[in-house]
Amino acid sequence: MASSILSDCSSARLLPLRRALLPPRAPRLRPCPALAHPRRLLVAARPQLLPRPRRMDSPPAATASSADSATVSADAPAKVIDGKLVAKQVREEIAVEVTRMKDAIGIVPGLAVILVGSRKDSQTYVRNKKKACEAVGIKSYEVNLPEDSSEEEVIKHIASFNSDPSVHGILVQLPLPRHMNDENILNAVSIEKDVDGFHPLNIGRLAMQGRDPFFVPCTPKGCMELLHRFGVEIKGKRAVVIGRSNIVGMPAALLLQKANATVSIVHSQTKNPEEITRQADIVIAAVGVANLVRGNWIKPGAAIIDVGINPVDDPESPRGYRLVGDVCYEEASKVAGAITPVPGGVGPMTIAMLLSNTLESAKRTHKFK
Ligand code: NAP
Repeated sequence: MASSILSDCSSARLLPLRRALLPPRAPRLRPCPALAHPRRLLVAARPQLLPRPRRMDSPPAATASSADSATVSADAPAKVIDGKLVAKQVREEIAVEVTRMKDAIGIVPGLAVILVGSRKDSQTYVRNKKKACEAVGIKSYEVNLPEDSSEEEVIKHIASFNSDPSVHGILVQLPLPRHMNDENILNAVSIEKDVDGFHPLNIGRLAMQGRDPFFVPCTPKGCMELLHRFGVEIKGKRAVVIGRSNIVGMPAALLLQKANATVSIVHSQTKNPEEITRQADIVIAAVGVANLVRGNWIKPGAAIIDVGINPVDDPESPRGYRLVGDVCYEEASKVAGAITPVPGGVGPMTIAMLLSNTLESAKRTHKFK
């Protein structure tokens, strides 16, 4: 599978756009230095074919030799961690399990999605989740409420799904209208059906030694799945998570710690982010600032998971913009051992992990191994 990635951290301009589409980020793009480079063809490996990655401290060129197992590029040795491919593989595995469960005990996993208001981006996300459910055989239930609904109405629907045995996962599409208190609403979801993993009890269990949450938030879970499936060793490694949000950065740091990495968190008040990040064998960037992480922030051979999705001006694109990550791919891919592209890295994993959480929930409820 081949994908071409244009590298131009220097030329793009952050769009003011899409508070509606994506979270708003830094006012403008930090330019990368001029990089003279040809357009490059990057060939991502099939995850199951990848050899164990080279030691994180070995030079990046060491294992970038095979088209089967590594990114092929004239000047960028990093392996491409192809999230699209892994997500497809995960969805196929889920479909097999859903069928096996249905055949064995007659149970079909069910996911309920509650959407309040008529934001176009939220409608698109909900539609995509529904389609993804259908594709793997998970039954989806949808409630659409008007923008001016009360918190009580939303909670009433949550309560009804909480007690519905055909529903194994409940998701409240965020953001909610301003007049609603997210906390009250998310707290109303039964922790045993909290497939988003945002309930404080699930996060609390994730943070505690010797406890396990019912669910792990989907995006950080997707990051970990990518690291695992690409054979990136975590135990004993130094990891840096850039960003500490409740939905990505903080749970990602907890997961890395649970997997026995030594974890540092970089945030907007961190004094020396480059220096701290440069010590990391594994970097997860979840900031929302286009190309914040430059090549000189990266330790040679490190594995880089870029969660950021940032729209930047692109007159050549039919949409007038394109999406870039928090990591300057052009620079980082020359130093890193492995890196996720944007788009096509973490993004596709998030829905795949939602399906995985829903299946897991149904299996747990019905004690199906
Ligand atoms: P968020 O809630 O805005 O959190 C951003 C975090 O980055 C905060 O912790 C903030 O620090 C930190 N930060 C901001 N500027 C920084 C800087 N200059 N240096 C270091 N840290 C800085 O964002 P989020 O919801 O976590 O999302 C982060 C990115 O991931 C966004 O681009 C979003 O679109 C993307 N995302 C992608 C997926 C996916 O499925 N691929 C899912 C969710 C999010 P403070 O805490 O100090 O403010």
